[in-house]
Amino acid sequence: MSNFRKLPIETLKKELDRYKFKQLHIHHTWKPTHRNFKGNNHTAMQQSMYNYHVNTNKWSNIAQHLTLFPDGIWLTGRPFGVSPASISGWNSGALCVEMIGNFDKPGSQPYNSLGYDELEGEQKRQILLLMKYFIDKYGENSIKFHKEGPGVGKTCPGTSLNKYAMLQEAKNISNTVNKPIKKEEAVKVEVKVDITKPSKWAKEEWEQAIKEGITDGTNPKGIPTREQVVSMIMRSRK
Ligand SMILES: [Zn+2]
Repeated sequence: MSNFRKLPIETLKKELDRYKFKQLHIHHTWKPTHRNFKGNNHTAMQQSMYNYHVNTNKWSNIAQHLTLFPDGIWLTGRPFGVSPASISGWNSGALCVEMIGNFDKPGSQPYNSLGYDELEGEQKRQILLLMKYFIDKYGENSIKFHKEGPGVGKTCPGTSLNKYAMLQEAKNISNTVNKPIKKEEAVKVEVKVDITKPSKWAKEEWEQAIKEGITDGTNPKGIPTREQVVSMIMRSRK
């Protein structure tokens, strides 16, 4: 029986810390694709991959350690301590990730009746976060796309993915959630600070500066440009 668990990236990283890996293997499923994902059928999709790998392929377990869904949810598969059925010759010490989707560029590969997908949004952010974990811990050479494996004739994880670009993005990714600021929130932040009145501690000097013509006295809490700073310095020297 299978016992798949949903793990947020921080919990996942803590679990991975208990193991030592040589490589991170990145795949796309090709089939199923994003169209098979309905927003709540993570476990059912994972179970059908499990059934295919065990009953049809006669493997001991689902091939991958982790499946990454289009909404950025991670689901566990094979236990982390057991070698995956990932890249022939490189399986020992590898962590195998299957991203749900067909990331081949349209027209570049045999037609997939379920269509092409784009790696984007939370699914992309999550794989970058896991790549970052491997880069920091094991170096960027530990990250392998399936197609790089010895004698592999596949395009997996898809011709639309540029490994070099993804490595750069992974190195620069921040761990904080990228929540866009809502308009109301942004406005609230702006009105909190009244830039038209000087602080108590600066009031005296501010007024003196106005008298001496160093500043015209507008927006004491505004941010000056370099040219404004230089003008004020030059005026104070006259
Ligand atoms: Zn693959």
